[in-house]
Amino acid sequence: MTKPPYSASLIDHPLSFQDSLIAWFQRVAEPHPWRKTTAPYEILVSEVMLQQTTVQAVRENQRYEKFLEGFPNTTALANATEQEILKAWEGLGYYNRVRNLQKTAIVVNESHGGEFPRTLTELSALPGIGPYTAAAVASFAYDLSAPLVDANVSRVFARLFDDETPINSPKGQKIAWERAEKLVPENGARHYNSALMELGQKVCKNNEVLCENCPVSSFCQTRVPLTLPKKKPKAQTIEITEYALWNQKQNGDLLLQKGDGSRRNGMWTLPLISKEEALTLPLLHESKYAITKYKVTLKAYQAEPNSIYDGEWIPLSAQDTLPIPSPMRKVINELQERL
Ligand code: SF4
Repeated sequence: MTKPPYSASLIDHPLSFQDSLIAWFQRVAEPHPWRKTTAPYEILVSEVMLQQTTVQAVRENQRYEKFLEGFPNTTALANATEQEILKAWEGLGYYNRVRNLQKTAIVVNESHGGEFPRTLTELSALPGIGPYTAAAVASFAYDLSAPLVDANVSRVFARLFDDETPINSPKGQKIAWERAEKLVPENGARHYNSALMELGQKVCKNNEVLCENCPVSSFCQTRVPLTLPKKKPKAQTIEITEYALWNQKQNGDLLLQKGDGSRRNGMWTLPLISKEEALTLPLLHESKYAITKYKVTLKAYQAEPNSIYDGEWIPLSAQDTLPIPSPMRKVINELQERL
């Protein structure tokens, strides 16, 4: 592809780079609801929700707005029961995110008088808040000059600087954060950081680059954008199978609440059984889902009518109020309709 001639170094000309990026952003910015607020709690909720969940999934079902309706401030979240927060997070997955969010709300209320701290160091000390989230709250809520690196920014930097260091390596991340620190403006970090991420989402995309529409193309050093960024190979996917038990009676379905030590702690699922036990029962359902490095095959089997299993009989009417992981909810809905 034809690239515009390289004309300037980013590091030498940060002002012009920042101005071009911000001017572009002001023309094309998506009206996301979390961009209409500067309340640190609301910013934090959006950032936590958007970790491991796409913007599209959050926007489509108004998950952000609904969560804030249920828990409009740190006090409401801090005082909620575990079942309430898990239910509000249902479908978003990675439930430790909402547990940490609640821990943060409790710490903000108990140790900071209900006000979010205003420095990067204090924000980073809150439960479950890493460098990215702390910088996001600092810049989006307080407009602090905080550098910000996510997957989009890493990719854009690799191309802008024509850098082949794998972006998912510790060295690649160190380089990206150093560049972010040098480039973030003293004033206007709120728009600049959003602009950089939006550039990665809309123009300098993973599998497609729209260099002719790029507001910072004159600073870009790569001539072969789609060969970048380089990445270290991902950890291998592990395939596992879950064997679930379907047991329905007039007084409801048999469900089991997962306890401590389970990644689904506090959630309700169909009881899981051993492979050996499952293979003696009729198979009713099979589906697949992915979580972190696991590719899971979920199989549900018809329970033996006269056997006794662990669990509680939950009436249909009560199931909507319980937190049930999405893959399990799909199985239950399908079997309730079919059988
Ligand atoms: S879209 Fe990406 S690769 Fe293309 S000019 Fe802009 S920053 Fe460079």
